[in-house]
Amino acid sequence: MGDAASRVFTGGSALKRHKFRQETEAVRGGTNIDKKNGPLATPIYQTSTFEVTDMQEQLRLTNSDIYYTRYGNPTGTVAEKAIAELEGTDAALLFSSGMAAITTSFLALLKSGDHIVAQRDIYGGVIKFLSQWLPKLGIETTFVDTNNIEQHEQAFRPNTKLLHIESPTNPNVRVVDLEKIASLARKHRLITTIDSTFSTPINCRPAEWGIDLVLHSGTKYFGGHSDILCGIAAGRADLIEQIHHARTTLGGCMDPHAAFLLLRGIKTLAVRVERQNQSALKIAEFLSQHSKVAQVHYPLLKEHPDYAIARKQMKGGGGVLSFEVEGSGADACRVAEALSLFTLAPSLGGVDSLVTIPALTSHYMIDPELRKKMGVTDRMIRLSVGIEHVDDLIADLEKALAVLNRTRKEALVATE
Ligand SMILES: *Cc1c(COP(=O)(O)O)cnc(C)c1O
Repeated sequence: MGDAASRVFTGGSALKRHKFRQETEAVRGGTNIDKKNGPLATPIYQTSTFEVTDMQEQLRLTNSDIYYTRYGNPTGTVAEKAIAELEGTDAALLFSSGMAAITTSFLALLKSGDHIVAQRDIYGGVIKFLSQWLPKLGIETTFVDTNNIEQHEQAFRPNTKLLHIESPTNPNVRVVDLEKIASLARKHRLITTIDSTFSTPINCRPAEWGIDLVLHSGTKYFGGHSDILCGIAAGRADLIEQIHHARTTLGGCMDPHAAFLLLRGIKTLAVRVERQNQSALKIAEFLSQHSKVAQVHYPLLKEHPDYAIARKQMKGGGGVLSFEVEGSGADACRVAEALSLFTLAPSLGGVDSLVTIPALTSHYMIDPELRKKMGVTDRMIRLSVGIEHVDDLIADLEKALAVLNRTRKEALVATE
């Protein structure tokens, strides 16, 4: 285990002292635990608007969470407070999806003529937004090699405003050195944003390392049950205020019922992620011993290129890992299809284990040459480890990998 968990805060405006440990923050965060005679579970304020007593009050409540639900909603507020506690940030905001959180935040913080530097291994939807949508508004992005910090600095221009990173990345689970990134950005007075979806605050709290704005697809681990879409932005109060204005105008707010499901998910975030950390590490170790597996990518395997950074800044390696089969892309597909406990579906972070072939899903639209350069081979399989018993998951993998012992012709006969 890394020592991130025992790290003590040392100043900086985004940093907040934690009153409780994360397991406690996940369950009780956002709620007033001194309150008496109230409902234990947070009620769903399933309303679009709120009644006021008079015009004075009307004016006072504009922009609050009891005015009009596009501005805010009390159910969402509890989740936002819980998330801010978990991340150790001043505040947090919810959105209708991860993409809504990211696009709204960028639109809030940037204007025409600004320049972004972004790492190359970020979420495909974000690459699309940066390369196809923001240029229409006069905002350019330079993409840099995720693990080459010098290249980041070389890409900075006088008008560079924002540095966007993701850690761990998909599907190679590369870990970015947040301390280095934050100090580089500080030197050049840039806003740093991170897509921290794969980490969750249980494994890493980027604000502790000096990152300004933490973004999540809460659809994944925060929700945790593959049944809601959710986006999160957490960070410094001044940034969150700007982003709140943008959310109100652009309208990507979260529905109160989804916020209730999110809150229910957050209560078990710490226990789920801890189990997923343990199981993913065991599975990574199992796969790296398997004769039909060529390579395994998991941050807490000693042979992973970012092992030392992961140990420094992460409490656990997370629930996602990828591996390459000994064979072709078709062989990887055969293995993925032969799995039964790992369901063939995009997405990650839920209690159910899932499997995808990145070259055919998240990275399908990327030019095959660039894809290879990014380390995403055709024979790569990505797993999102759920909370089933790890021995059952390993047995499922063992059985599926056995299809590679047969030739394609034998396999065809066997399925006839
Ligand atoms: C899924 C995902 C997103 C997009 O989130 P949605 O909730 O699907 O809009 C962004 N970043 C990462 C790393 C993701 O995994």
